[in-house]
Amino acid sequence: MDLVYPPCCVSCRVRVFDGCRVICRVCESGLLPIDAPFCERCGNPLDTPVVPCPACPGRTFYFDGAISGFEFNRPLQDLIHQLKYRNRPGIGLFLGSLLAKRVEQEPGMPHITGVMPVPLHPLRNRERGYNQSAYIARGISDVMGIPVLENVLARTRNTPTQTSLSPEERMANVEGVFEICDVEAVRDATISLVDDIFTTGATINSCARALLQAGAERVFALTVARA
Ligand SMILES: [Zn+2]
Ligand SMILES: [Zn+2]
Repeated sequence: MDLVYPPCCVSCRVRVFDGCRVICRVCESGLLPIDAPFCERCGNPLDTPVVPCPACPGRTFYFDGAISGFEFNRPLQDLIHQLKYRNRPGIGLFLGSLLAKRVEQEPGMPHITGVMPVPLHPLRNRERGYNQSAYIARGISDVMGIPVLENVLARTRNTPTQTSLSPEERMANVEGVFEICDVEAVRDATISLVDDIFTTGATINSCARALLQAGAERVFALTVARA
């Protein structure tokens, strides 16, 4: 297959000679980690650690903390686009491993019992063929050696795409759409939800709420990018 479709960088299309690489070294070095200071609660990058986080007031976050790995710049936009719309689930494994290495450097991170991908509705899952967040979670799991909690949380309603909605509309759009199917796996667990992009946090917040209601001890949010 490599002779027909020689492997090339998903961002700049330059030929890569290591068939396992999804992005060339130059583009990979353009991935910019979101370093401290950021809000410990919602993960919002801050100019100085002392200012109150402008994203937090008026919001109720059900997760205890959030880490977004990287700025949503060009090479990362290309990676996530290919992951979601071009049938490239392997990119999720790659992004998950990058995110895990970033999280492992975080001093305040507690011990996590499992990573849980934000579920897609079954119809969306069938269209895409896979859940991109599940591949990101597997990439994290491979590096950190913690299990992926799949088929524990389900999305019961297929909600319209959120891109044109305000933060308040996004919250309402995803309220109560997640349901726990395995309460035993959740009880007293410290779980990290995993998704590709943190925008307003509405989706991941709705998941976190369902997990807490089912008896999870603590919930964190890990996302590859922050829009
Ligand atoms: Zn490149
Ligand atoms: Zn915040």
